[in-house]
Amino acid sequence: MSDYNFLMESRLSPEQIRVINQLSRIASAQGLNFYLVGGAVRDLTFGQQTVRDLDFAVEGNPQKILKHLQPGSTARPGDPHSAGQEPLVVAEQMSYDARLNSAEIIFSNGVRGEIAATRSEIYSRPGARPDVAPGTIFEDLRRRDFSINAMAISLHLNSRGLLLDPTNGAGDILKMELRTLYSRSFLDDPSRIYRLLRLGERLGFKPEERTKRWLDSALESRAWEEINPEQQGRELAAILHEDNPGRVLKLLGEQGLLAGLDRALTPAKIPYERLTKIRALAKIVPNADLFLLNFHALAERLGGGNRSRLAQGVFTHKKDLKLALSLEGEAKSLAHTLASSKAGSPSRVYTLLAGQPTPLLLFLLAYYPQTNIQNRVKTYFQKVPQVKAGLPRAELAALGVPPGPKFEKILERIFLDQLDGKIKTPAQLQKELRSLAGVKEVRPAPAEVARPKPKGELKPKSELKPKGELKPKSELKPKGELKPKSELKPKSELKPKGELKPKGELKPKSERKTKVGEKAKVEKKVKGQKAGKAKGARPSTRGRSLPALRERPDKRKAKDKGKGKKKGKR
Ligand code: ATP
Ligand code: MG
Repeated sequence: MSDYNFLMESRLSPEQIRVINQLSRIASAQGLNFYLVGGAVRDLTFGQQTVRDLDFAVEGNPQKILKHLQPGSTARPGDPHSAGQEPLVVAEQMSYDARLNSAEIIFSNGVRGEIAATRSEIYSRPGARPDVAPGTIFEDLRRRDFSINAMAISLHLNSRGLLLDPTNGAGDILKMELRTLYSRSFLDDPSRIYRLLRLGERLGFKPEERTKRWLDSALESRAWEEINPEQQGRELAAILHEDNPGRVLKLLGEQGLLAGLDRALTPAKIPYERLTKIRALAKIVPNADLFLLNFHALAERLGGGNRSRLAQGVFTHKKDLKLALSLEGEAKSLAHTLASSKAGSPSRVYTLLAGQPTPLLLFLLAYYPQTNIQNRVKTYFQKVPQVKAGLPRAELAALGVPPGPKFEKILERIFLDQLDGKIKTPAQLQKELRSLAGVKEVRPAPAEVARPKPKGELKPKSELKPKGELKPKSELKPKGELKPKSELKPKSELKPKGELKPKGELKPKSERKTKVGEKAKVEKKVKGQKAGKAKGARPSTRGRSLPALRERPDKRKAKDKGKGKKKGKR
């Protein structure tokens, strides 16, 4: 059996794991049995790369958990949060359904989820809201739509990772089948017809044989006409959240089911091309939430009254609703500014776009093809996170700047300069950091700067031993300055022995010795060559072999370059 603790740790995002850990700690502290249920369990079992949202079920009152998620909640002593290890996650948006004792939440770290009391449901008539009563986790799993969605993972600290799968959803996942849990399922809740087609499209699952018969019979009796407005809005929102809403809407159109979602929807009104274009944005901005843009594309063709009716049903949060209906106008004015000189540098673009809602920027990418607008918004999405991730926090701290407003202000300056390409090298960064932090630059002693490397380690002329006292070659110091073995060229790159001058071509030792007059000539020549080069760029000639001296500096330079680290060694 799968190890669900391992699956959760490896498949869920760090933010999702943080939410799970925090909530299960709170639930345990309250003595509540707490479970991960629904799509997350299905997707972990099926091996999906990402899990969209986290649905939790709690045996008992969810309020005992929800009260700890209010913005401004503080960690209690003993919590890891109180030690400052992790930021406390709170509910940024929450919509509570008192009838179902359930809350939909967007957490402060961006994770979406739902926390609901476990319940049983009884349908008094098809399409009507069911009567609900508190129930056990097993009753709760049995009220669900398909076996693959009726599994739970215990998050209780004592049984964490235990899978509850009373209707063998794991078996259906293996067969890639969608199976309802009882024959009247589609009649009781016709929104399950849409869920089956949508999930089937997303996962590549087919209805199980009996389920297919029950589906056909529900379609024949036009059960979908009974779906209530709240469920219509929910399902339409779910479709617009899909990776490929166009395909789902096409499938529904082919089955004659669009009108069940809204009376104004017909196959001719579905903007397939626009939906495809919007979908392509995911390549530029991975994980972008394209929901609002999808809604805009769909509603645009429906006209005023229909559009606001659709929006009322689809959006649970007023903020989203307002933005969805104003996207076009807002984008027009932002595009105007973005194309002007007010956005002449990347840092200005950043300042302009930073406070704007992401869907608005995605809208610009989708509908404003002008090169400068495209480039500026793409830079914002792609370069800004890169530069932000590499900000020199540690380096700044190392200069002794304590955390606080000054620290952040310096980082902001560095961030803007890096965006504009004013800081490119580590040396420039260090210089700028020092200057902004008010730390004086430590200037290296001029002598050290001027001296070329090997020379600096040689003793001044006056201290040199007279020639007669020189040690034999084998005892000479430079050995210590030899490069480590790892830096030497591999043997294979060395010139084969055959290419070296045969010993026989060398002059006899006695002839090789430079006469005093010749040496003076050579030194004069070298001096002349030196004059044409940068001052101090040549190392000392002392101790070098004559062939090296005889080479023209330009030739030597080229040769040295080719040799790389093996320079000066044979
Ligand atoms: P995803 O979140 O990946 O889109 P999901 O299956 O989790 O898929 P949700 O809408 O989040 O879909 O629903 C959570 C769970 O609630 C489902 O897995 C299912 O168990 C249950 N559920 C949702 N809608 C119904 C329904 N109409 N009838 C019965 N159970 C439902
Ligand atoms: Mg879900």
